[in-house]
Amino acid sequence: MPVARRINQDDLRNHNLSVVLSSMARSKRPMSRAALAKETGLTKATLSLLSDILLRNEVIRQLKPTSDSSFGRPSTPLAFDSGRWAGVGMQINTDGFGYTVLDLNGTIVDTAWRERTMDDVDPDDVFAQLDELMRPVERNLQRYGYTITGAELALPGLVTNHNTLLVARNLGWRDIDLNRYEVFRRLGADANNEATLAAIAQIPGYASQRPERDWPIDTLDSFVYVSTDVGIGGAYVREGQIVKGDHGFAGEIGHISVNMRGPQCRCGRHGCLELYAGRRAMMVASGIAGERDAARTDLLPRLHAAWRGGETKAVFAVENAVAALASALASTLNVIDTENIVLGGLWSEFGEDLRGNLEQRVQSQILARDSVKVRLMFPPVTDHPAMYGAAVMGLDRLFRDPLSFMTVE
Ligand SMILES: [Zn+2]
Repeated sequence: MPVARRINQDDLRNHNLSVVLSSMARSKRPMSRAALAKETGLTKATLSLLSDILLRNEVIRQLKPTSDSSFGRPSTPLAFDSGRWAGVGMQINTDGFGYTVLDLNGTIVDTAWRERTMDDVDPDDVFAQLDELMRPVERNLQRYGYTITGAELALPGLVTNHNTLLVARNLGWRDIDLNRYEVFRRLGADANNEATLAAIAQIPGYASQRPERDWPIDTLDSFVYVSTDVGIGGAYVREGQIVKGDHGFAGEIGHISVNMRGPQCRCGRHGCLELYAGRRAMMVASGIAGERDAARTDLLPRLHAAWRGGETKAVFAVENAVAALASALASTLNVIDTENIVLGGLWSEFGEDLRGNLEQRVQSQILARDSVKVRLMFPPVTDHPAMYGAAVMGLDRLFRDPLSFMTVE
């Protein structure tokens, strides 16, 4: 029937547009139509048609022709257009809240962070403040001609695929239907776990132009991402794609028990990793803060200084944390079989020696130590990576369903 045939063709075109956009984003340099046809397996005629749609809708633009074509004809490289489409990432974390707006070409258009110690805060208050923060941002984007392709919110807890926050123990929040908040509805946002989104920020060419600079992770690599703050979160990326698990909860490395006789965690178990290597735990163990003010965000430099200065309690606290991390990471690598670990959060401040030491400890503990070489690295994106990843996911809606944002005729 004609109707069914029409729908199929639209689906196919949408799929092909999505493939073209992804290929462009993952490429280290701008590609011509001929190069894109070769890369995607589409015919040059189809590619030409698709690039016309993308050009007309200001998703891509043509760069100056170059003459290095093998057929002697100049080729015209295509690049993402800028100033037209924006992904919005928001985050609420134990140390504050904020947003990042990202353009297709990978430029941060706008970003802000409100530093707060989020102990015992009322979610209604926090969402009201986030709403107030976002309104002028949305107005400005509209004024400058941007269309928001999508928005995502990063939270430090278990988030279901239907935007319910089941629990964020370090905020003291549970069972929150996020759709009840005006800012969330207005932006048509989705919510996701912060470590998952921080991991996405480390994948070059994921729903925005890959940066030109060197990147330790390649577009289709597998790796474990660990984010350390008050809590410890984790995410697992397999060949460039997040593995979310059956319910969206995969990667909770912070609640791997490293000591069955250890202290009891907020989750109910004993000796969880975050009781040794979380920010709050290290502040208390190093004697820098008591239980009451251990979550204060301004204390971290004091821990670094005390550790560098060789203060016994701080050295002991960090050594305990590193031993616990090595144990949990080796267990993780044994279970999922990858060699790459990206260690985010507060650890990059501890420097190269600690990184090398931890890498060696994990190496010596994994089962396949004689044949697999562990690579433990600090992440390339360190400034609020979850917020950046959330903005990437906002742009990802354009990559997944391009035709819903474009006119074809
Ligand atoms: Zn726990």
